Amino acid sequence: MTTDFAATKRLFDLPAGVIYLDGNSLGPLPKSVAERVAQTITAEWGQMLIRGWNAAGWMDLPARVGDRVARLIGAEPGSVVMGDTLSIKVYQALASALEMVPGRGVILSDTGNFPSDLYIADGLVRTLGPGHALRTVAPEEVLAAIDETVAVVMLTETDYRTGRRHDMAAVAARAHEVGALLVWDLAHSAGAFPVHLAQDGADFAVGCSYKYLNSGPGGPAFIYVAPRHQARARPALSGWLGHEAPFAFDLDYRPGHGVERMRVGTPPILQLAALDAALDVWEGVDLADLRAASLALQDRFIAAVEGGCPELRLATPRAHADRGSQVSFRHPEGYAIMQALIAEGVIGDFRAPDILRFGFTPLYIDRLDVDRAAEILVRILKTGSWDRPEFKARARVT
Ligand SMILES: *Cc1c(COP(=O)(O)O)cnc(C)c1O
Repeated sequence: MTTDFAATKRLFDLPAGVIYLDGNSLGPLPKSVAERVAQTITAEWGQMLIRGWNAAGWMDLPARVGDRVARLIGAEPGSVVMGDTLSIKVYQALASALEMVPGRGVILSDTGNFPSDLYIADGLVRTLGPGHALRTVAPEEVLAAIDETVAVVMLTETDYRTGRRHDMAAVAARAHEVGALLVWDLAHSAGAFPVHLAQDGADFAVGCSYKYLNSGPGGPAFIYVAPRHQARARPALSGWLGHEAPFAFDLDYRPGHGVERMRVGTPPILQLAALDAALDVWEGVDLADLRAASLALQDRFIAAVEGGCPELRLATPRAHADRGSQVSFRHPEGYAIMQALIAEGVIGDFRAPDILRFGFTPLYIDRLDVDRAAEILVRILKTGSWDRPEFKARARVT
């Protein structure tokens, strides 16, 4: 292993006394981000004013940062651009892909997908009208359900609740065999383990930057369009910054070159600056090392928790190839148990109806953290200290 994870841990600003196992939901703050954002505010916005779009390179930032993300997801240079929220990027990818498979109108997804992806697909199908439908099957049935009626297979690679992971290459092979296109959601993959979009035949992919890429709350999403599709993909949200020549101010829309046609409007420069600085953390990181270390941490946690808490049921697949970078357990009182855990400084999260979710990222979590977190969880269950009214009152965000 060549990656120095003790060194990457020092690049993060983690609160004292907290073991953070929720970077899969909101990544923690890399130390370099505050300074970079402050500089973007005072030296760029403050001093350059409108000149910053050229002088500070703001207009190039979505594609430049997109190329940095591309390296982490096995994408070709020039195939990724940043902007908007993930839900919007799902809409764009799906609408473009659907249009590229004429004569078919079925979007196939699975019941393990994140609701926003399914709501967006449903909304698009209703806008397009007759001949279009969203079909969802159980995750294990996806391969068998890909047939000649399917236009687009839209899947989140890693299940946000259980951590179960699809076989990207196998799904691509089957989809392409029947002439369907693929849209991957990498929300729980990008920065969690090596992804090989180009090698595994992806057509479109989307993902967010505020989870494993640590861009901060509301950080921009990314969209990938395979180079072979870029000239043909028509942006459904045809905003001015996706135009071939935005500053010609033409009255008719002509899509821009390459993946930049998927840009919509003015990019969030402060959040892009935060992401750009956050990506520095990855400079010396070998993704194969990251994967090996992540699995070792997960296995250590599973063994300690299963050894000490027989009442928790593992919801994550045991086979390494079938999981991402999170470990989930089921318990009917999962919400209260998680609140008790958070009160002791171990931060994970809860997903209805009964999932306790823990994200593992070796960038800032080490074996001592895992041992300590498991020890506290075991104690909470043994003593029943979670069984108190204040731990059962549901907050707005779980
Ligand atoms: C986190 C997540 C989202 C969130 O979408 P936003 O538009 O960024 O709020 C969507 N889809 C999946 C699969 C996610 O994990």
